[in-house]
Amino acid sequence: MVQQLKHYIGGEWVESTSPATTSVINPATCETLATVPEGTREDVDKAVKAAQAAFDEWRSTPVLSRAQYMYRFKALLEDRFEDLTRIVVEENGKTRDEARGEVRRGIESVDFALQLPSLIRGYTLEDVSSGIDETAERQPLGVFAAITPFNFPMMVPLWFLPTAITCGNTYIVKPSPQTPISMQLLYELLDELGLPEGVVNLVHGGKEASMAVMEHPDIVGVSFVGSSPVAKLVYETCAKHGKRVQAQGGAKNYIVVMPDADMGASVANIMGSAYGCAGQRCLAGSVVVAVGDAYEPLRNELVRRASGLRVGYGLDETTQMGTVISASARERIEKMITQGVADGAQVALDGRNKKVEGFEGSFVGPTILDGVTADMSVAKDEIFGPVLAIMRADSFDDAVKLVNSSRYGNAASLFTASGKHAREFKYRVNAGNIGINVGVAAATASFPFGGKKDSFFGDLHGQGPDAVDFFMDRKIVIERWL
Ligand code: NAD
Repeated sequence: MVQQLKHYIGGEWVESTSPATTSVINPATCETLATVPEGTREDVDKAVKAAQAAFDEWRSTPVLSRAQYMYRFKALLEDRFEDLTRIVVEENGKTRDEARGEVRRGIESVDFALQLPSLIRGYTLEDVSSGIDETAERQPLGVFAAITPFNFPMMVPLWFLPTAITCGNTYIVKPSPQTPISMQLLYELLDELGLPEGVVNLVHGGKEASMAVMEHPDIVGVSFVGSSPVAKLVYETCAKHGKRVQAQGGAKNYIVVMPDADMGASVANIMGSAYGCAGQRCLAGSVVVAVGDAYEPLRNELVRRASGLRVGYGLDETTQMGTVISASARERIEKMITQGVADGAQVALDGRNKKVEGFEGSFVGPTILDGVTADMSVAKDEIFGPVLAIMRADSFDDAVKLVNSSRYGNAASLFTASGKHAREFKYRVNAGNIGINVGVAAATASFPFGGKKDSFFGDLHGQGPDAVDFFMDRKIVIERWL
C-alpha cells in the first residue's frame, strides 16, 4: 500500500498547505513506497511557530527531565530496531547490515545526549575582583533545524535532534524527499514519548522548504548535511539571515597505501570503504594512491575481491552491495565512469549496465579505474557511487601532495607499518577525519564530525563538544552582593 506521508507539527500529523507530492521509490524494486508532500513556506512557518511556542516551557523543563525523554527514546529505538533498518533498506537501497550499522550509530547519538546534564554546565570564578564573582552560564537559544541528505536518512537527523532538544532547544527536521519514510517512523516514536507539543517537528519537502528554513527569521540555527554546492548555499544564506550554521558537504576521500602496509588488511579495509553503501558515503574511499611497490599486489587483489562482491537487494541478507539511490544517480555515475575512460583511465573492473535478476532497480556494479591521474575528473570530482580510482605515487611525499591537491577535505586514510609516516600523515594532510590503518575514519558520537575545505562550511562541527557549543549560548554574569 502506498503510504501518504504528512508533516508533524505541534504534536500532530498534518497535511501540507500544498497538494503537490513526490513519489518515494524503492531503488531496488522500483515500487512506489509512499508519496511525500512538497512542503511550502507556510508549512515551515507553521512548524517554526509551533516550535517557538514550545520553547519557553521546554527550556525551563529541568535538564534531567529532558534527558529522561531520551532514555525512553533509546528504549523505543532498540525495540523497533529491525523495523527501522527495514525502512532504511527499502527507501535507500543499502544492505540490511549497513542499515543496522546506521541505526546503531544513530542510537549512539542518543547515548551522547544522555550525558548532556554533565556536559552543559557553565563555570564560575569567585572574586574576579574583591567580592565580585563571574559566571559563564549556558543557555539554549530557541528553534533549530536540520536539512538532511538521502544517504543516511535515519542517522544524520539523529546527529542533531537529540542533542539539540536535550540542550533545551526546540527542533524541526526537513529530510531528503528521496528518503523521508525513515523520519516518518522516527517521528512516530518521538510522538510516543509524549514530548510537549512543538518540541519536535517534521516538515517534508525539497528546495522550497529548505529555502524557507534558511531564510526564516525565527530559526536561530541550521545544521545541513548534503552536497557541497548546496552546503555553500546554506552557509551563505543562513549567515545572511543571522543564523548559526554548520554545513557539511561532499567529499573525495583518498587512501594512501605504503609498500610496508599489511596488504590483506589494507585491501579488506579499502573494499569496505569504497563499496560500503554502494559508495554513497561522505567518508567513502574513492581514490587509492598506491606508493611504489604497493601498486601491483594492491591493484590485483582489489580487482579480484571486488569482482566477487554480491550485488543485489538489501533485504536479501546475502547481498554485499545494494543499489544506488535512483535511476538518475546511476546514469550520472555511469557517465562519470565513461568520462574517466575518455580521459585515459583503464577500466580494470566495469560496473556499468549491471543487471540483477528479478530486479529492475538502479544497480551499479563495483568499478575500478586504473592508471588515473590527478587531472582527470574521476580523481577530482565526487562520484558518490561504487567507483574506485587507482593512482600511483613514487613516494610518500608525492602521495601526500596528491591528497592535499583535492578541493575536498572530508577524510583521508593511510595504510602503513611506519609510525613516522603515520605521524607525518596526521600532521600534514588537510582533512577533517584521518584514518591510520582504518578505511572509514568516522568520528564516534562524542567526537566532533566534519571536514575541511569544500567539505565543510562553518566553524563548529556536528556531534561531541562542538555540538554542545553549537546548540547552547554562553552568557557571562558578573555579580557583587557585598
Ligand atoms: P543534496 O545536497 O542534494 O540534498 C541535501 C538536502 O538539501 C536535502 O534535504 C535536499 O532536499 C536539500 N536540497 C537539495 N538541493 C537544494 C537546493 N538547491 N536548495 C535547497 N535545498 C536543497 O545531497 P544528497 O544527494 O541528498 O546527499 C548526498 C551528498 O551529501 C553527497 O555529496 C555526500 O558527500 C553528502 N554528505 C555529506 C556528509 C558529511 O558529513 N559531510 C554526510 C552525508 C552526506
